Amino acid sequence: MPKNWPPEYDAKFLPEHNSPFWDRKLETMDPRERAETVILPKLQAQLHYAYRHSPFYRNKWDSAGVTPEDIQSLADFEKIPFVTKEEIREDQLKHPPFGSNLCISKDEIASVHGTSGTTGKPTAFGISQGDMERIGEAHARIMWGFGIRPDDTVFIGSFFSLYLGSWGALAGVRRLGAAAFPFGAGVPGQTERAIEWIQEIKPTVFYGTPSYSLYLAEKARVLGVDPGTDFNFRILVFSGEPGAGVPATKKRIEDTYGGICIDTGSTAEMTPWMTNGECEHRKGMHLWQDIVYAELVDSETEKRVPYGEEGVTVYTHLERTSQPMIRFRAGDISMWTLEPCPCGRTYPRLPRGVYGRADDMFVVRGENVYPSAIENAIRRIDGFGDEFRIVITREKTMDELIVQAEPIPGTNDESTLKLGKMLEVDLKTKGLRTLVQMQPPGTLERTEFKARRVIDQRDLYDEMTKR
Ligand SMILES: [Zn+2]
Repeated sequence: MPKNWPPEYDAKFLPEHNSPFWDRKLETMDPRERAETVILPKLQAQLHYAYRHSPFYRNKWDSAGVTPEDIQSLADFEKIPFVTKEEIREDQLKHPPFGSNLCISKDEIASVHGTSGTTGKPTAFGISQGDMERIGEAHARIMWGFGIRPDDTVFIGSFFSLYLGSWGALAGVRRLGAAAFPFGAGVPGQTERAIEWIQEIKPTVFYGTPSYSLYLAEKARVLGVDPGTDFNFRILVFSGEPGAGVPATKKRIEDTYGGICIDTGSTAEMTPWMTNGECEHRKGMHLWQDIVYAELVDSETEKRVPYGEEGVTVYTHLERTSQPMIRFRAGDISMWTLEPCPCGRTYPRLPRGVYGRADDMFVVRGENVYPSAIENAIRRIDGFGDEFRIVITREKTMDELIVQAEPIPGTNDESTLKLGKMLEVDLKTKGLRTLVQMQPPGTLERTEFKARRVIDQRDLYDEMTKR
């Protein structure tokens, strides 16, 4: 086990202003050399630490017949069993509130966070001070790659609540030495106030969800403010939703604000979640493998897939002392590559982003459908507004897929009808039989957080038709 684990970072270090890298050597190293000399030693230290401090992992690995000593290479690492979201939730029910993988004493907890619990019981996170500092360090390093510098002002337009997104972004901004503008979201009237403040303070970086950035722009235009010229965002950073990795949404955000749109994010459990993060060249998210080790595995054989292939995401912390996640099977679908990126970083990339979020997928007439595919289709056609809904219902015993969308304000009836037809035809060529219902502009609900765009009414149908 390396002596310096968890790693200690110089909290005062900053790269030269014009250096594209935080740590050139580490970021541009030969991937095999990095795997051998950096990732593997950190991984082994993390495994030993977890085995010693976490009854959760000790029990799990003992039952699987594997110990940290068995892991002598990254190939060996595939012997370690996966951990799932459900398993973490169940463990927390049995060992409330933080579960049996906390690894630190309660009095070492510096910050309490949690998941939103929209898809089940929320998960609680108890994070140590050291981990919070390392999260800040990791995010600062990755944000440097977005092009953020100490003279930037970062507007954080997301909820400051249990949600880790805002706090993780704030920790990174502070460590990088930029000005944090933690505006928050969710209070009535806050978007209108944001529009005033943004014109006044002129922050150069936006952080929030893609949905919120589009809502903010729409609201600004209604108030006679042009988000492209009256605001001053040169970099917009997103997480929480797949939108920033959906090509047509990315383009729409960049056209709206005149800044670059950066996609980031793995999942709250894996904070520092920015270790999936694009660089300023926006060629898909890099996997910062020496901070969080990411794998793509085949969903059936559960074996790691080669570069160039599609698989589901599995993540492992490499420097976490509180609640480390080890082979956490997030289950989102992506494709990875080791093709070079113009930035010169040698981390693998997800060139198409994370296009299949496990939580978002639904099945219609036996087919897996990802909302991001529908989002991309809508946003590629000129004339649609920014909001849409997907309603799944049942007619007799057949699933029906309804897409509700809006034209931009001022569109006449005939053109609105045409837009709807165009989308139906486009989705049909992608194998999706849908009914498109056009709604008057501004009628679909807007959000300041993550949009809930899929409404599944099939349970309701079954309930109503039950005898
Ligand atoms: Zn890059």
